[in-house]
Amino acid sequence: MTMEVDILELSDRSAKFVLSKVGMAFANGIRRAMIADVPTLAIEYVNLYDNTSVLYDEQLALRLSLIPLVTDIETYVPQAECTVCGGEGCPACEVSLTLSSEGPAIVHSGDLISSDPLVQAADANISIVELKKGQKLVLEAIAHMGYGRDSVKWQAGIACGYKNMPIISVENCDACGHCAAECPKSIIRIEESGAMVPEEDLLKCSLCRLCEKACDINAIKVNYDENAFVFTMESDGSYTARDLILQASDVVKGKAEGLISILDQL
Ligand code: SF4
Ligand code: SF4
Ligand SMILES: [Zn+2]
Repeated sequence: MTMEVDILELSDRSAKFVLSKVGMAFANGIRRAMIADVPTLAIEYVNLYDNTSVLYDEQLALRLSLIPLVTDIETYVPQAECTVCGGEGCPACEVSLTLSSEGPAIVHSGDLISSDPLVQAADANISIVELKKGQKLVLEAIAHMGYGRDSVKWQAGIACGYKNMPIISVENCDACGHCAAECPKSIIRIEESGAMVPEEDLLKCSLCRLCEKACDINAIKVNYDENAFVFTMESDGSYTARDLILQASDVVKGKAEGLISILDQL
């Protein structure tokens, strides 16, 4: 059984695709890898040289830590696994960003100046704080690579989920239309031959089974394919949606290879 992937929608930040001929554990592994096991860069330490804004230092540090940063996985390694510095912090596992602003101004994520041109705020217009006339903010932020499983600030995948592929069958239907009236997704059409769901609408089915309940003669049956999953995912901007899916697949592959090599040694 060879896995099949059918991409339904793909944009810079989000994707919808059908993964078939795989088990539930594999589908869940991909979902989990996207939210927890693909490392990203996020601000971990902040040296505040001047802060006369209305925000406490801790509030500022928290806001900064949640700004998604474009992550270059080819250049940086998670700090805890850095063999160059042993986790102390070095150019292989961290990036410095500076910010200097004086009011009146609204400080945005795009005001962070990175020491690495490839590592920038994924969105330049996230508001950090409003400075009134005379207020100042001067800081250096240190970002390092970490995992979503350790903190939400390193979580690359957001709104990642899947459902089984719906299967709807209709037999001996008298076209009364009760099921169509009950369907919350309005995807059931009543044709002369009876009720049907157009193929392009099938993915919208939430498997709620209200249509089954509405049918007095059990003509409509809702089921699902145990080995096919409709995925939706979004990236926080640290990776493109495409790269995040690829990285998550690599993580799952790496875990499987690790297991195989352990079993080989037994
Ligand atoms: S299971 Fe729910 S969403 Fe799907 S066709 Fe039936 S009523 Fe509509
Ligand atoms: S499937 Fe049942 S409820 Fe729906 S139109 Fe046919 S007979 Fe009516
Ligand atoms: Zn290091």
